[in-house]
Amino acid sequence: MSDTIRFLGTGGGRVSVANQLRRSGGTLFEVKDTKVLLDPGPGCMVCLADVEPKIDPQSINGAILSHCHIDHSNDVNILIDAMTVGGRRTRGTLFATADSLRGDGSVVLSYVQPFLSDIVDLEPLSSYQVDDFKFQTSARHSHPHETYGLIIPHELGRLGYVVDTKATDEVIDSYSGCDALVMNVVLSESIVLPPGVRGATPRHLTIESAAAVLEKVRPRRAVITHFGATVIEMGPERVARDIATRSGIPVIAAEDGMILSFGELLE
Ligand SMILES: [Zn+2]
Repeated sequence: MSDTIRFLGTGGGRVSVANQLRRSGGTLFEVKDTKVLLDPGPGCMVCLADVEPKIDPQSINGAILSHCHIDHSNDVNILIDAMTVGGRRTRGTLFATADSLRGDGSVVLSYVQPFLSDIVDLEPLSSYQVDDFKFQTSARHSHPHETYGLIIPHELGRLGYVVDTKATDEVIDSYSGCDALVMNVVLSESIVLPPGVRGATPRHLTIESAAAVLEKVRPRRAVITHFGATVIEMGPERVARDIATRSGIPVIAAEDGMILSFGELLE
């Protein structure tokens, strides 16, 4: 079978995930016989069980947490438990940011960590491998908490996966040379919180900034995913068309359960 990317869930951000406007189970890469799950968010285990044929967690070789936010990491503990049969089979590799693994902000329970064969800290602009799946990290994203996107150097070309971030020059430059880009487009437009409202201004891609990323990187095609409520309200297809018109790059709106081959994206 050809190498694929399966969008288990395409929802992102608080309102979208809280109301399950789209599923939020993350993204599964299958390269040769290696399966790697990026960002097992809420409902990941349901998504794995709910496809035909079911995906056996014991067939998953590794997981990646791009950052610790709950829509990216909620199911990581049960996933590790399931991958390792509650620790009875030591196996699997977890790649995660240091703040996801240790200290007050840790999201990976200390008792499941020894179940894994290997735990690897993600660093900026570094190369990693688990079995047949190789990837590099981007520059550190502009997002609350340590966050990295991926660049996958496949035999057909380079696939970039731009997770949550504001589009800064340093972040965008680290994806240069990518032949296809998947992008988390959480917002339709940037939000400025009114005075007195608690919290920081969200640092996410918008229609405008996603188009700016594509204009700079110039991949052959792009996929948008991880939609927040404003994008879902507008319609991800319409948002994809808008970004394509602005950038001149073909854009696909991911759907829950959608499987794309590396060939379709990179050739
Ligand atoms: Zn986030």
